[in-house]
Amino acid sequence: MARLRALILCFKERCCSNQCRRHSGGMEIVMRCMYCGYTDSKVVDSRSTDDGTAIRRRRECLKCGKRFTTYEKVESVPIIVVKKDKSRQSFDRSKLERGILNACASRPVPMQTVDAIISEIETTLHNSLQREVSSETIGEMVMERLRKIDEVAYVRFASVYKKFKDIETFQEELKKLSEGKN
Ligand SMILES: [Zn+2]
Repeated sequence: MARLRALILCFKERCCSNQCRRHSGGMEIVMRCMYCGYTDSKVVDSRSTDDGTAIRRRRECLKCGKRFTTYEKVESVPIIVVKKDKSRQSFDRSKLERGILNACASRPVPMQTVDAIISEIETTLHNSLQREVSSETIGEMVMERLRKIDEVAYVRFASVYKKFKDIETFQEELKKLSEGKN
């Protein structure tokens, strides 16, 4: 699932980027009148741009009646994962899936549940509107969910992910786990 971001460029090329970032969680976009700032307008004309990559809309402000043009475009914005060594790569669903599946090996965790965990994480990341997320954050998100589903899978995932330095930190984690149950 790629994040849908509406990119709106008005003919003065200003309002756009701020608005988009703020409202790009889904397809909800607020278009302000360039003249008075009012957020409601009606579309008076709509057509594809010549190269077909955007829609050009002529709009009329419902408050001041002035007209302005928007170029609306939906593009997918990949989530960038920042790893511990600060290298970056785009979010890879199948990689995350492999990690979780390894942890769930021979555990009664249905594939559907694994899918749901990943989708939920992906949606949360998209909705956070941040372009970059640390691999650490993603790891925590997985652990938080696995913990409620299967303790063995959780501990396995945590041990790979956290690379427990020694038996003490591992035991600490187990302790936290049993405390969480009470
Ligand atoms: Zn206006």
